[in-house]
Amino acid sequence: MSKIYKKMSTLRFKALESALTRVPRTVPAPEGKISDYFGQNVFDKNTMQKFLSKESFKQVLEAVESGQQIERRVAEQVATAMMAWAISKGATHYTHWFQPLTGSTAEKHDSFFELSDGNKPIENFSSSALVQQEPDASSFPNGGIRNTFEARGYTAWDPTSPAFIMESNAGKTLCIPTIFVSYTGETLDYKAPLLKALHELDQAAVPVCQYFDKNVTKVNATLGIEQEYFLIDIALFNARPDLETSGRTVFGHIPAKGQQLEDHYFGSIPSRVYAFMVEFEIEAFKLGIPLKTRHNEVAPSQFECAPVFEEINLAVDHNQLLMDVMDKVARRHDFKVLLHEKPYAGINGSGKHNNWSLTTNTGKNLLSPGNSPKTNLQFLTFFINTIKAVHEHADLLRASIASASNDHRLGANEAPPAIMSIFLGSQLSQILDEIEKTVVKEKLTPEEKTQIKINIGRIPEILLDNTDRNRTSPFAFTGNKFEFRAVGSSANSSNAMLVLNTIMANQLKEFSKEVDALIAKNIKKDEAILKVLRKYIVETKNIRFEGNGYGDEWVKEAKKRGLSNITTTPPALDAYVSKKSKELFKKNNIFTERELEARHDILLETYTKKIQIESRVIGTLSLNHIIPAAIRYQSDLIRNVEGIKAIGLKADSFKTQLDLIKEISEHLNVIKASTDAMTDDRRKANKIENVRSKAIAYCDKVRPHFDTIRYHVDKLELLVDDAYWPLPKYREMLAVR
Ligand code: ADP
Ligand code: MG
Repeated sequence: MSKIYKKMSTLRFKALESALTRVPRTVPAPEGKISDYFGQNVFDKNTMQKFLSKESFKQVLEAVESGQQIERRVAEQVATAMMAWAISKGATHYTHWFQPLTGSTAEKHDSFFELSDGNKPIENFSSSALVQQEPDASSFPNGGIRNTFEARGYTAWDPTSPAFIMESNAGKTLCIPTIFVSYTGETLDYKAPLLKALHELDQAAVPVCQYFDKNVTKVNATLGIEQEYFLIDIALFNARPDLETSGRTVFGHIPAKGQQLEDHYFGSIPSRVYAFMVEFEIEAFKLGIPLKTRHNEVAPSQFECAPVFEEINLAVDHNQLLMDVMDKVARRHDFKVLLHEKPYAGINGSGKHNNWSLTTNTGKNLLSPGNSPKTNLQFLTFFINTIKAVHEHADLLRASIASASNDHRLGANEAPPAIMSIFLGSQLSQILDEIEKTVVKEKLTPEEKTQIKINIGRIPEILLDNTDRNRTSPFAFTGNKFEFRAVGSSANSSNAMLVLNTIMANQLKEFSKEVDALIAKNIKKDEAILKVLRKYIVETKNIRFEGNGYGDEWVKEAKKRGLSNITTTPPALDAYVSKKSKELFKKNNIFTERELEARHDILLETYTKKIQIESRVIGTLSLNHIIPAAIRYQSDLIRNVEGIKAIGLKADSFKTQLDLIKEISEHLNVIKASTDAMTDDRRKANKIENVRSKAIAYCDKVRPHFDTIRYHVDKLELLVDDAYWPLPKYREMLAVR
């Protein structure tokens, strides 16, 4: 082996060689059309009907509809049926599938296999195993609620989300969606509070619907989640310790051909990526995830998929499952899926647009304008109440999407800012402005009434040409739904959705109260509704923004309007424990104060851990990879200078070398000094007891070093011989083939 070769960064070049010589995998296609195998691994209504008695089936459906408990006797039948079905599908194990606050999903597998009394091997699955389990979960975050001395936690079956079978090469497992709570009843997961919020919303929305239609007895919230992600070759991923440990590249110079050309968006999908998409979609279809669209995204090697919307609880479960399936299938294609909000600096980040609406049991989308003034007044009611809810609790909504990784995305290129505003579209803005101008006195004049009716009646035809969709808003109305775009790509949407649905539930309750009070004063119903809506229009004007949310002018304008712009996670999370939020959650039976404080602590701790991990990997990469590589190249230069001198040439023959040697040293000095300072600040932060102060220290003291170190490392990347550079470069990682 030559001396030079030994000095070369072998891992990077081996990884490149692997990445460049891959052939697309042949995807094993299931028989038939998608509709033939859609949901084949789900214990859905149809399957249940086949396996259950008529009476039991009816009871399960009713329980799912009403949220009531399922009788033990029926649960026993369901358990037996589930096992029979799962075994017929080849499953050997079962698990309660839940969503602890770590962000991913958790499973603990048990086998159906048992030894019966006579030591006879049998398969068994009892109702108690279906309904409740006690995972040894002391390692899941609980914010002090459940320390090991105190009560243990348990998982409990959520019959509203159907069980499914997870397939892997090694075997099949029956997964049962569950909530996760402590023995003292505190929620320790994402699902339980979401279910509570959805229940509250239903309770609050039905009376409002009944102002317009007495047939409405149930309101469901719907959600369609667009999922953005990056793909990278697994070998290149493995050659980047930062991606492996923190999900993002902490160093890397932005390539000459970045995203400037924007030729990737809606371009043709590379064949290896295409094979991956086809296969994960097949797996998703089998699991009943109704994927609908796939395409390239703005950044190179960035993609997006989106399902048809579903009831929120199911949509969230499906998205969690989808992320898991994508990850598993990617490995078969030698890819790694990057779900981090900002894997590459200077290039678009990834979001998870949450398309949200409300539907009634009568089949009406409440955020879709109708064809008469009456249905349009109903539309306006829900539309304006949403604006009011967001206006009242903008900070809480901001908190619901706060995370260390999303901090990189909000306000960076092509991502909504951290300022919560709402985009309505010019036509709807105009309608609201007109309603506002109509002076609503105790009694409307006939002319005013006609005017309002005309305005309201005009909505449907107008929305048809509501084409000027503003993509820069964090919360935009898009014709028949609101789109919450600030949610991060790696997030569990439950967080954002439980907040959105809670504030909406609370708002609708307030609205009913105000309207009923006016009706009690003998004001006619429609007038009462209009009066309250008009008041809301006036009160919420400052969060309506139709302009460019990416621009600096908006930051200035928002400040003038008194809107907050909290750009980092620790202060953003304060909104969870404000007096206002505590009251809100308590009043709506979502969280007790103790639960909120625990959750707040967990989110802060998670933030601290993430920054700590990044800081450590930055330190290791700087000291053990970057500095040595630069010194090696510098030594070559020094030897070269000595050689040139030795053959008697003058200084102008090695001027470049000397300049490079000096420049490298300058960068090395800053990198070393900043890394030391960062380590020092980390030590200081680690000594802080208070969870919030510690997170703030990580945010304000440790994190700022990252940019300094990165700046100089990225400069070195441009100076050091390419053969020595240890980390795959942006150009290499982003060129997915
Ligand atoms: P775009 O990229 O233009 O935002 P997509 O088609 O990628 O649009 O995604 C739109 C998402 O919104 C889909 O998941 C779709 O199912 C969802 N959606 C449509 N109508 C509703 C609704 N009433 N409630 C919730 N989500 C909806
Ligand atoms: Mg969208």
